[in-house]
Amino acid sequence: MSGKKWYNLIKNMLAKTNYDNPPLTRLIESLLEQGFSEGASDIYFEPNTNQMDVSYRIDGDLNNILTLPAKTGIDLISQIKNLSQNGRLELNTPKNKIIFSVCLIYTNFGEKIIMRPDNQREVGLEKISLSLDLLKLIEKNIKESPGMILVAGPAGSGKTTLLYKILELLDSPHINISTIEDRIKHPLENINQSRLNPKIGYTAAVALRSLLRQDPNIIMADEINNEEAMKVALQNSAKGRAFLSGLRSSGDVVNIISDLIKTGMPPELISSAINLIITQRLVRRPCGDCLEKYNPDAEEKEMLNQIIKNNISSQMPFMEKLSFYRGRGCGKCHGTGYRGQTSLYETTKMSPELIESVQKNDGQKKIAELIKDGLNKASRGETTLAEIFRLAKE
Ligand SMILES: [Zn+2]
Repeated sequence: MSGKKWYNLIKNMLAKTNYDNPPLTRLIESLLEQGFSEGASDIYFEPNTNQMDVSYRIDGDLNNILTLPAKTGIDLISQIKNLSQNGRLELNTPKNKIIFSVCLIYTNFGEKIIMRPDNQREVGLEKISLSLDLLKLIEKNIKESPGMILVAGPAGSGKTTLLYKILELLDSPHINISTIEDRIKHPLENINQSRLNPKIGYTAAVALRSLLRQDPNIIMADEINNEEAMKVALQNSAKGRAFLSGLRSSGDVVNIISDLIKTGMPPELISSAINLIITQRLVRRPCGDCLEKYNPDAEEKEMLNQIIKNNISSQMPFMEKLSFYRGRGCGKCHGTGYRGQTSLYETTKMSPELIESVQKNDGQKKIAELIKDGLNKASRGETTLAEIFRLAKE
């Protein structure tokens, strides 16, 4: 969407604000409310040489929506600081009460603010579309052979959402599930959720040890990011504890295992503790309002063949004949052709042979299943070929 259109939207919103408030407060409230209703994950107030840029991050892309004179920008930042308390700003709209976290960063051009709605809609569990096969595989693995299911992906790829979804699947009155989370993003019924607080010494390792004493049937840790906690988790998984854990990594299965080995985890422990590794990536969804079916041109076909050749050893001859989808761009998607996101998954069963091949370092990137999942989703209009090309290049 062009800056002009955003300007009109904000202007319309401003007209509806409370005229008793100072103009700057009304402008801030309008920008935040519009950002939230557009589904922005972050709202940026960023000073530059002679101006202040206001941008929304929507589905991973940064959209510049307003440029203000530098002086107004400085006033705006100081007003946001006045309105915030303990790094949070509360916005009451007729429909919602929205809490934004406020993060202040010092740059060459002055203070920059990034605001993020706490109650982001992306945590809605219904938004995640897991294939029935994947759900069955996870359920089967947990029931037949306890141990750790590791969900790995880059920051913001929806690891926690998947972990929540798995918990929901496993929840029953007879089992006791406990979680340790960096920040509780989604309250779950009947599940004992606890939040880490490293400032008072409640770290992942401490939390894990205290949870283990209570002996729950299943433990979920949304992100294990230190070696001590990982070791405790692996040792207990190897003893047969059902464990779900998130791991921040943008690597493939080979990278994930070799990183664990590099941190000093014994390969035998990794092999006996981990049951299944699920790697996950987010891709954009084409906009449902301007979706069109098309046949890839020669250039796209050539790229498609390359990707299949480089990543997937088996042939996918039928791909040649498939149609794909894209968004033409419309008002609803601000001309981008994209709206929303979907996840791609790759599941890998742990085995001593896998560990051996990682140690031999055959160096092969293993994202075949992610690419396959992506191509299948692209052929159903859930993502686009362009998104899969981007993923393959990463
Ligand atoms: Zn559209």
